[in-house]
Amino acid sequence: MLDVEALETFYGPSQALFGVDLQVAAGEAVALMGRNGMGKTTTIRSICRLTPPRRGRVRLDGRDLAGLPAHRAARLGLGLAPEGRRCFPNLSVEENLTATARPGPWDRARVETLFPRLAERRRQSARTLSGGEQQMLAIGRALMTNPRLLILDEATEGLAPVIRHEIWAAVHALKQAGQALLVVDKSLRELLPVADRCVILEKGRSVWTGRPDQLTPALRDRWLGV
Ligand code: ATP
Repeated sequence: MLDVEALETFYGPSQALFGVDLQVAAGEAVALMGRNGMGKTTTIRSICRLTPPRRGRVRLDGRDLAGLPAHRAARLGLGLAPEGRRCFPNLSVEENLTATARPGPWDRARVETLFPRLAERRRQSARTLSGGEQQMLAIGRALMTNPRLLILDEATEGLAPVIRHEIWAAVHALKQAGQALLVVDKSLRELLPVADRCVILEKGRSVWTGRPDQLTPALRDRWLGV
């Protein structure tokens, strides 16, 4: 469904990605991994065309995203809950959700079932939410677009254990429901059980892909150790 080939991305003159390949099949959950600064967020931004790649190809359901502005790529089925959980702070929770709504199985009621806290906070402005609730809202906003692929970038970073647990439970539920996922998270303990496949980045290149059970301690040490 998502097919990324030989991506190379620059920030001005400085090259951040040197050749990233990755695929996500329908219904598959892929963990995008690698130490700090290896290019995970840049890969996501490149796929979503927020930082368009200079070389390589991104195809979604066979359609090449080259040349599209980010909002058009989003409309083709990329739902991103970005790092830093950006929502509209002055809009209510409900308004934040309806702002991104597109037709499909995900509507506000279903998002509120997945995240009951959002139903409790429906009329509050997003600014008044806790960090974890804002993250739930960011995921909810992405789901409201009814994406083919849901992309989560550090969805549990800096959150309290109880909230992390709720978010991971939601991610597992999404996977059960057949939602295709591309997930970046620092917690391998929580990330690996949800992943069908892992892609590891090293210095802007994809260097390993395989199932979580194939990720031996030696491989972890080599690519993910500090
Ligand atoms: P982290 O886990 O720390 O977020 P990451 O794997 O997501 O790391 P990226 O944020 O994609 O890595 O960074 C990849 C490289 O691109 C790094 O060398 C980083 O310094 C550089 N980089 C990221 N954002 C920018 C930017 N806005 N301008 C210039 N260089 C950047």
